[in-house]
Amino acid sequence: MYIDYLSQDSIGFTKLPDGRYFFRTSSLVALLQCPYKINFIAKQNNSDDFMKSLPLVKGKVIHAAVSYLLEMYKYGLAKEGAAILDKFIDNQLNKEMQKYTKNLPDTDFLENLKLDCKNASLNFARYTVKNYNSIITEKTIIIEKDSFVLKLTPDLITEHGIVDYKTTKKQLTSNFYISYDYALQMAVYSHYLQMDAQLLFYSFADGKLLLKKPGKFNNVEERILRLIDLLENNKLYKNQYACSTCFYKNKCTLEADTTFDMKIE
Ligand code: SF4
Repeated sequence: MYIDYLSQDSIGFTKLPDGRYFFRTSSLVALLQCPYKINFIAKQNNSDDFMKSLPLVKGKVIHAAVSYLLEMYKYGLAKEGAAILDKFIDNQLNKEMQKYTKNLPDTDFLENLKLDCKNASLNFARYTVKNYNSIITEKTIIIEKDSFVLKLTPDLITEHGIVDYKTTKKQLTSNFYISYDYALQMAVYSHYLQMDAQLLFYSFADGKLLLKKPGKFNNVEERILRLIDLLENNKLYKNQYACSTCFYKNKCTLEADTTFDMKIE
C-alpha cells in the first residue's frame, strides 16, 4: 500500500506497486524542471555528506523550528518556546549529524549555522502570528489520480491561503526574483488545493522578510502527465536552460556523458 512509501521521508518519488507514480512536491518540481534530475535525486537522498547536504539540512532545521514555535504559540507558550529555541535547534542539528556523518562542520561554522537557523525561524514565526489568525503548519495532503499520487506539505495554510517559507543569501529588494522552481511549486499547491499561494522570504544577508506572490503556470496537471509519459517511455531529456540554477550542476557536468538509468527502485 502506498502509505508505506509516504512514511519514508527520504523517498521523493517512486513507482507504487499499483503502477502509479508517487511524487513529493519538491521532487515533482525538480523533475518537471529537468527530467534528467532523476539521476541525482535518489543519490542525494542517500548521501551522508553533511556539507554537501547543507541546504537540505538548513531548510529542514528551520522548518522544524518554525513549526515548533508556532505550535508553542498556539498553546499559549510562545515565550517558553522561544526561551528553549537554542536547545531545540541543537537537537535538530544533532539528529541531522547522525544522518549525515561525513564532512561535518567545524565549531565556528556550526555556531553560525545555529544562529542562521534561529534568526530565520524566529522571524518567520513572528511574521506569521502577527499577520494571520488561522495557522495550520506542515499539513500533509494526499492527492490521488489515476496515474499518480502526490504528497503536498505546504509550510503554512492560513485564512489567506498558502504561505511557504524560503531563505536566501541575497538581499531582498523590491525587484527580487522568484525562481522558476519555487513558482512552479506554488502553482502545484494552488492548483490542487484551490488556494492562493505566496512565498515568504527571509534574507540571511540583511535579516529582512519579503512576502511575494509568484507568477502563474497553466496546465499543471498536463505537465505532470507529460512527465509520467517521459518516465514510462524512457524519453527523459536534459533541460539545459535550467542548468545555471540547478542544485546538481557540478555533479551533472561530471556525469554529462553517462547514459540514463531509468530503473526506479
Ligand atoms: S545540471 Fe542541467 S541537465 Fe543536469 S540535472 Fe541540472 S538542469 Fe538538468
